[in-house]
Amino acid sequence: MKLTRISGTREEVAREVAGVFAGYYGEGGEKVGPSPYVGGRKAALVALEKFSVRGYAGSRNKLGGGVSRLSFYIRHGVLGLREVAESVRQRFGESYDSLKFWQELGWRQFWQLVYGRLGHRIEEDLEPAKVNLGKDFADELPEEIRQGKTGLVCMDECVRELVETGYMHNHARMWFASYLIHFRKLGWKVGERFLYRHLLDGDPASNGLSWQWVASTFSHRPYLFNQENIQENGGKQWCERCRVKCPFAASYPELEQRLFS
Ligand SMILES: Cc1cc2nc3c(=O)[nH]c(=O)nc-3n(C[C@H](O)[C@H](O)[C@H](O)COP(=O)(O)OP(=O)(O)OC[C@H]3O[C@@H](n4cnc5c(N)ncnc54)[C@H](O)[C@@H]3O)c2cc1C
Repeated sequence: MKLTRISGTREEVAREVAGVFAGYYGEGGEKVGPSPYVGGRKAALVALEKFSVRGYAGSRNKLGGGVSRLSFYIRHGVLGLREVAESVRQRFGESYDSLKFWQELGWRQFWQLVYGRLGHRIEEDLEPAKVNLGKDFADELPEEIRQGKTGLVCMDECVRELVETGYMHNHARMWFASYLIHFRKLGWKVGERFLYRHLLDGDPASNGLSWQWVASTFSHRPYLFNQENIQENGGKQWCERCRVKCPFAASYPELEQRLFS
């Protein structure tokens, strides 16, 4: 790629950069344009002001639910945690939805504190796994996963959104991590690196410790999901388009038996 010197107003520079990277090839070889998410303090304040916490508690687990999508700004210090929490308090008071939202901000703060205390130690298992995670973990993600071509529409669509926009919904992150760690036995590090590379909010603490939380090396049990969970929170349209045998179509006891015994 030829690099050129770009100057002008912020908007002009943003337009130029978007032009340079439009059609940049993603991991899957497909053309990927600039992310629809706009950076900068001005955009962050608009997004914060637009965010309504009403219904957050009940809908945040659904892919189409009312999440804030403020993580990019928070991650890069464009918005402060306190500032975000206070904006919600002023506009919506101490409602149940506000409390649930603050709890999530609390998770972010908690991961940061753990990272602050343990530093690079979070790059290794913090506790023994509570279940059999397998061994001989992969150094590289299998190509069909990176390219979103596993045939499992739910997983492929999560990867597509990640690569194209730099965002993945929290529940999708949990499904994807669980799929890689528990269904594919690839280990958590290889998936952690993949997400970190693509997420606009990629953060060593929130990302690394969440992967360990799913794996059960920083939680008391592994995170598992099944087809019913995907359909309830992601909708049925993925399953309707899927043409491969679903590894998630089972009850939780059945999955535990199959994956961990
Ligand atoms: C495997 C995995 C990897 C993750 N990697 C990252 C990462 O690299 N960077 C990152 O910021 N978050 C990460 N998260 C946490 C969470 O998925 C994102 O913060 C959230 O999806 C961002 O979207 P949002 O701003 O719309 O969230 P909202 O639901 O609107 O939440 C508001 C804010 O609270 C914080 N938050 C919400 N959920 C969590 C959570 N579970 N843990 C920590 N903080 C949370 C974020 O700062 C977020 O912006 C990860 C979660 C998982 C399961």
